[in-house]
Parts: sequence; structure tokens; C-alpha cells
Amino acid sequence: MKGITILGATGTIGLNTLEVIKQHQDKFKVIALTANRDVDGLSALCLKWLPRYAVMADAQAAEQLEQRLKPAQLPIQVLSGKAGLIKVASLPEIEIVMAAIVGGAGLTSTLAAAEAGKRILLANKEALVMSGQLLLATVFKHDAELLPIDSEHNAVFQCIPPSHFNSAKGYDHSPARIKTPAAFVDSGISRILLTASGGPFRHYSDEQMQTVTPEQACAHPNWKMGPKISVDSATMMNKGLEIIEACWLFSVQPHHVEVLLHPQSVIHSLVEYIDGSVLAQLGNPDMRTPIAHALGWPERISSGVKRLNLAEIGQLHFESVDFKKFPCLQLAYDAMLAGGTTTTILNAANEIAVQAFLQKRLRFTDIPRVIEVTLSHLTGRVVTQLDLILEEDTRAREFATEIVNQYSTTNYH
Ligand code: NAD
Ligand code: MG
Repeated sequence: MKGITILGATGTIGLNTLEVIKQHQDKFKVIALTANRDVDGLSALCLKWLPRYAVMADAQAAEQLEQRLKPAQLPIQVLSGKAGLIKVASLPEIEIVMAAIVGGAGLTSTLAAAEAGKRILLANKEALVMSGQLLLATVFKHDAELLPIDSEHNAVFQCIPPSHFNSAKGYDHSPARIKTPAAFVDSGISRILLTASGGPFRHYSDEQMQTVTPEQACAHPNWKMGPKISVDSATMMNKGLEIIEACWLFSVQPHHVEVLLHPQSVIHSLVEYIDGSVLAQLGNPDMRTPIAHALGWPERISSGVKRLNLAEIGQLHFESVDFKKFPCLQLAYDAMLAGGTTTTILNAANEIAVQAFLQKRLRFTDIPRVIEVTLSHLTGRVVTQLDLILEEDTRAREFATEIVNQYSTTNYH
């Protein structure tokens, strides 16, 4: 029986994880569940899953949860804040941590899981974008495992031979033994192709893009996701973050990672080899597949996902991506090439801009502008300590907030 902590249990990924675990209660035991401020959501999950720990983001929400759970007299310890998250990410009785908090808020708990040598199922791509080098070095140092939940990276992981990774345990990223691009070629791989649905506005004119609302942006054609990643998908910054994520996870240079538009989201990504072979992973667009893959790895376990019926689908479609329409993609490539904390700055500015858009304080088309202006004013540094990375993150958030305020007073009606 493997103990599991689910960070971000009330979110889309958290709930899908519980859906998979429900089918394998002989293999996995839920030990801890966490949420931001959704007391209703977490109390319902606590009553159903009876974890030993429940964590809310702040003391007030934790107090409310405690009161809510009191009548049931369950042996659930309610904790709060960063300290609570770090504790449940590193409990000795857990083997697996699902890192499914959205945004930079998930970084410290993901790192804590790495320090405690856990198997990390990484949905929280922002943690890797903010601190790729630090996170991977920590994973290696403490003999942890990092398995990708992002469907594209999980697909690539399935299409890459184990020999690409130094360790039979999965990713092994000693800074000394990190795979160089030469090693990438040694594995016979020539390219990683990340597929992208193109989001809901692929066919919108520039004029239509100007007036896009949060409601439209959150209505993704293929995937049901939280609001932040839905907006990221609509601007294609999600794919930008995924390019950076792929560079870290698979130790490749940005030019080895390309984006292919595939509106149906059936092929989740592809790996091209020097002999002309291209391996792909296919499946219905349902996050329970990568979640089950990583939970069970290296074994396969069922996920409850509907079988893929290719005859019913008939045709698969592909297009090349329009970098002019989706400037976030180039911003992400450039940030990864610039290195250091440039990607921390990119992520911070994006989070601020997306939040402002969701609150109707910023136009959709101003999201990439805020990021670009922030990146052009702040220079990334080569730092690997958490406190310095968090300092850079705060600096970028403050700067981006000022830019958002300028745009929102002058441009948004
Ligand atoms: P979501 O908004 O549905 O859920 C986010 C979870 O994080 C919730 O449980 C929320 O309570 C918690 N949370 C939010 N802010 C927090 C804070 N400040 N402190 C503590 N907890 C906080 O998001 P999601 O769609 O489940 O995505 C989660 C992560 O997984 C994101 O990083 C996203 O990019 C990634 N991801 C999601 C999908 C998907 O299909 N939804 C696919 C790939 C990757
Ligand atoms: Mg993805």
C-alpha cells in the first residue's frame, strides 16, 4: 500500500487523481489532501477519503475546515500555510506526492517532496519553469523521482527509451551527469514534437482576439481544466511553459523542442529518431491516463478512461503554429535560451497578467505585452537558492503589476 499526498486536491488534477485512486484502493492510501481556500470542497473530500491530514492555505480557512469537520469526530489533523504543505509533502509514511497546486504557490511544497526523496507526480509545471535547475538538482540529490503528469511530457516520457535516462528509477539529473544535447543525440533522438490544440481562438481574427472574455478563454474545446491553465492554453503560454518544462525534464535545448498544432488532442506528443521513426502516444484527452501512468509506473494500471476509437475519429489533423498570433510561444523560447531566472520572470509576469485578465482588469491581447515589457526591463540571474529565486519572483510580480495597472487604466473598457 503506497501512501499519497495530493497537493491541490480540490482542483481538476487533484480530483482526477482521486478518481484513479478510487479504482485502486488496494494499492494507494490517501494520507493528506490540501486546498487553497475551498473549505466546502476540501471538507467533502475529507469526509469521503478520511485522510490523516488536511491543509488549507491560511489559518482562517483551516479554522473553518476544523469547525466543519468537528461534528464527524474524525482523526484528521488540520494544518495551514506553507509549513503545513511542506509537512504533508515530506511525511515518512508517504511514497507519492501529486504536485497539483497551480502556479508559483506550488514551488516550495514540490521542492519539499524532492528533498524528502518522494516520487513526485508533477502537474505543477510552473515550479519547474521557475526553478528547473534547483528542482532537478534536489530530485537527484535526495534520490527522488519526477514523473510528468502534463499529458505532452507524459507522452514523451512514454516514447523515450529508458536508456536516455541514467537511472532505472526515472530522471536522474545530477548537475554532473545531466544529459547534454550530445547525449540526447546518442539516444538517437532528433526532435521532440509537443502537440498543441491551439486553444479556443485558433481561428479568431486579431480584432476578435481583442475582446475575448475570461468565460470564452476558459471554455477549452478538448480539456476541462482550472482557469489559469485554460487562459494559458488560449494564449498558448501553456505550450510556452511546456517547451521550458520539456527542456528541463528531458535535458534538451529549446531548438530540439517543436510545437505542432493538433486540434483534436488525440496524439499527446511525438519523439522523432535519427532513422526517421516517429513514436507517438495517443489516447482520449483525459488526464486520468497520464495520472494512472505515473501512479503505477513502471507498471500499468487501469484509469477508467474510455478506449480510443480511431475509426470513429476518422482523421487526425495537423497544422503549423502561428508565432505572430501567439507571441507567448516566442517569449518562452527566448526566456529559456536566456537562462537563469529569466523563466522565473516570465512565469511571474504571466501569472500576474492572467490573474488580471480573469478579474477583467486586462485585455486578453495585453497578456503577452505585460510579459514582454517585464522581460525587457528585468534581467534574469543565475541563482539556484530558493530564497533568491523567490526574490526574483516577487520582483517580477511587482513590476508586472505596475505594467498591468498602466494597461488597465489606459486600455481596458
Ligand atoms: P485548478 O485551478 O483546478 O486547481 C488548483 C488547485 O491548487 C486547487 O486545489 C486549489 O485549491 C489549489 N491552490 C490554488 N492556489 C493555491 C495556493 N495559493 N496555495 C495552496 N493551494 C492552492 O488547477 P488544475 O487545472 O488542476 O491545474 C493544477 C496544475 O496542474 C497547474 O500547474 C496546471 O498547469 C497543471 N496541469 C493541469 C492540467 C489539467 O488538465 N487541468 C494538465 C496539465 C497540467
Ligand atoms: Mg499539457
